Amino acid sequence: MPVKNRFAELLPEITAWRRDFHENPELLYEVHRTAAKVAGLLREFGCDEVVEGIGQTGVVGVIRGRSDTAGRVVGLRADMDALPIVEQTGAAHASKVPGKMHACGHDGHTAMLLGAAKYLAETRNFDGTAVVIFQPAEEGGGGGKAMVDDGMMERWGIQEVYGMHNMPGFPVGSFAIRPGPMMAATDQFDIVVTGKGGHAAKPHDCIDTTLVASHIVVAMQQIASRNVDPLKQVVVSICTFRTESEAYNVIPQTVVLRGTVRSLDPGVRDLAEARVKAVAEGIAAAHGATVGISYIRGYPVTMNTPENTDYAVAVAQAVSGQVDTAVAPMMGGEDFSYMLNARPGAYIFLGNGDSAMVHHPAYDFDDNAIPFGSSWYAGMVESRMPAA
Ligand SMILES: [Zn+2]
Ligand SMILES: [Zn+2]
Repeated sequence: MPVKNRFAELLPEITAWRRDFHENPELLYEVHRTAAKVAGLLREFGCDEVVEGIGQTGVVGVIRGRSDTAGRVVGLRADMDALPIVEQTGAAHASKVPGKMHACGHDGHTAMLLGAAKYLAETRNFDGTAVVIFQPAEEGGGGGKAMVDDGMMERWGIQEVYGMHNMPGFPVGSFAIRPGPMMAATDQFDIVVTGKGGHAAKPHDCIDTTLVASHIVVAMQQIASRNVDPLKQVVVSICTFRTESEAYNVIPQTVVLRGTVRSLDPGVRDLAEARVKAVAEGIAAAHGATVGISYIRGYPVTMNTPENTDYAVAVAQAVSGQVDTAVAPMMGGEDFSYMLNARPGAYIFLGNGDSAMVHHPAYDFDDNAIPFGSSWYAGMVESRMPAA
């Protein structure tokens, strides 16, 4: 099973869809044009069922194989949303919408899964049911969770689910994956430090809030270096330090700190949350200040089920022969994690070559990767549900 010949034939058509999505980026759940085009194409392909409005603006297509002797159902997922970035690629197919851009390659993911759907609807060379999932709001909106919460897994009886993301820095036509954690849990926190404001020339009459907040920022670095097992990973980054005053001579009453915690292990996640709170509270108390802490848990760890990772590797090997099976996990978040929490499955990287990194204004999805990505999606269905 090398790259399927059909995808070489379909490449101009899939590329045209990809560039059309690229020219017309939409954010979060507002992917109305994209979702309508996806649903229209799925109907044109002859999918047995096409349902819009799952998880607000998600689309689900159902393709039944030639036979269904074992009641098998495999889900394939792509994401549809873009980012609020001003594009600087200079490409002929650059964004026509100022301030919005497909800078994460979701245009490519959607087009590749559409290509796979077209092929699967033509050939139906499998025993069971393929469910193609197009989700909104991957970039911070939890669209994957919204689709799961809408009962998608139960409604279509999805038994296992597979996702893919392009990755700059890996050769086009190559894949990378690992069993276990692939992407991080992403949590965020706000800490409001309250001291006693006053005249900067009379610090002894104040509780210096900027000093207290500074101690908190420094001490937070010890969570990674002193609290978490050195063989496990955590990131604690404080990204906002905001005083209420911009004066040269006022000790502010409050300082707001904001940051993010990234982890790959549930125990580390719990420990980091507890330590963020204890460090902030303890340091504030030692200085006579107080803190208010809001800690919000975001996307869970994207956890590849080992068995399903092996299946994904086998198909990737057959498609390209270039598969890194022990890629390092990344500390970014991914809301396919909610689908992997609901069902076993795997998430794989597809090389995007020497392009700018995702989320950079000069990034562009490499259309040469399309035959590999579409072949992998289709190959997952044919290999997990071989024709009877
Ligand atoms: Zn992204
Ligand atoms: Zn992305």
